[in-house]
Amino acid sequence: MQKNERIFENTEIAFSLKNDSELERAYFLFKMISVQPLVRIGTAATNFALKANLPIEGLIRATVFDHFCGGINEDDCLPVIEKMFSKGVSSVLDYSVEGKENENEFDNTVEKVLKIIDFAKNIDAIPIAVFKPTGLGKLSLYTKVGMNKSLDDTEQEAWNKVVYRYNIICNKAKENDVAVLIDAEESWMQDAADTLATEMMKTYNTEKPIVFNTLQMYRHDRLKFLKAEHKKAIKGGYYLGYKLVRGAYLEKENDRAKEQSYKSPICENKAATDANFNNGLKYIVDNLDNIFVFAGTHNEESSYLLMHLMKEKGLKNNDSRVWFGQLYGMSDHISFNLANLGYNVAKYIPFGPVKDVMPYLIRRAEENTSVAGQTGRELNLLNNEKKRRRSQYSM
Ligand SMILES: Cc1cc2nc3c(=O)[nH]c(=O)nc-3n(C[C@H](O)[C@H](O)[C@H](O)COP(=O)(O)OP(=O)(O)OC[C@H]3O[C@@H](n4cnc5c(N)ncnc54)[C@H](O)[C@@H]3O)c2cc1C
Repeated sequence: MQKNERIFENTEIAFSLKNDSELERAYFLFKMISVQPLVRIGTAATNFALKANLPIEGLIRATVFDHFCGGINEDDCLPVIEKMFSKGVSSVLDYSVEGKENENEFDNTVEKVLKIIDFAKNIDAIPIAVFKPTGLGKLSLYTKVGMNKSLDDTEQEAWNKVVYRYNIICNKAKENDVAVLIDAEESWMQDAADTLATEMMKTYNTEKPIVFNTLQMYRHDRLKFLKAEHKKAIKGGYYLGYKLVRGAYLEKENDRAKEQSYKSPICENKAATDANFNNGLKYIVDNLDNIFVFAGTHNEESSYLLMHLMKEKGLKNNDSRVWFGQLYGMSDHISFNLANLGYNVAKYIPFGPVKDVMPYLIRRAEENTSVAGQTGRELNLLNNEKKRRRSQYSM
């Protein structure tokens, strides 16, 4: 791509929804989380304080929570959703409560997702719903099912409920013509989740992709998996939907593989992950007749590549088979500049009680430390926009 086509550098469009004080707040926040030791100490202190019921929720809300989350419930998120949609950016409401382990909580998550689908069917700004496999069942149960271990009666009953929950959500999504993304998690629970997602696609993607599974392309086996699933889908006469991401559990995956002496499922380095991700995009764009894609990435080069692949195929920017996705609070320069050119873009808007979205917030803080490299870019962009505005005011 030529330099003059590097649209993501336009900070005026990127931050058009932020007033000066919001811009300053974002700058301050990214400056804070760029200091790795601060994130480490902050994470430990926050976890401790929340467990000890110390009154720190207000502080979390005023800082990381408000930056990365839409609110504590769906209604809180509506103003943000409307504002973003005024610039062409859609929303995926993400009930981000994690680490729950009981059946009532799983049923509660189903209720939340069904409510979001109801919301979505009436609001153009929310075209897609999402859930996490472990929001509907225990991680240990997915792991056991994925290993083909026999289940006792209680476990079997719990697994039947998981399957039932998937069906309720996907059926409602189909009835209301709202796409539903299924997130991907740790590789050791993913086999069972993948099998279930394929079952859902077989059942509900008969006319078009409604159910989207997620491929974590930091796994070296995922391109092969995609091709095998594609073959099965052609034979079975159903459509595939895939969210492509790089993957968020890198350290956990590598640590476990080392501890338990098996070969890590993760690509040998970042370049290999990048190549795998980009090859996944190419494969899907070559096969859009059967597979729709939601590219969940903050990587500029992969986003430019997808734009380029679409152009090469003569596709319109808003071709309904291709979506770009980013997380709320991150990479607005990609989201808003793409939307400005008419591409389909949606941002995940996480919501939930402060305490319960902490694992999500910690992942965001960790991936935004200087070592991971995102923060430098966010800080630069925010700084450029501050400078641009200053020079405009002084004219
Ligand atoms: C809309 C959206 C939805 C998402 N949904 C999910 C989901 O369901 N499941 C999930 O796991 N993640 C999900 N993520 C997070 C995603 O997997 C990444 O962690 C995050 O987006 C950073 O990757 P990137 O593509 O933006 O780009 P980059 O910042 O360019 O890439 C960083 C990523 O590269 C990989 N990487 C880094 N170092 C190495 C290394 N040494 N060796 C191999 N690989 C390396 C890691 O995956 C790391 O996260 C989602 C992200 C978005 C934007």
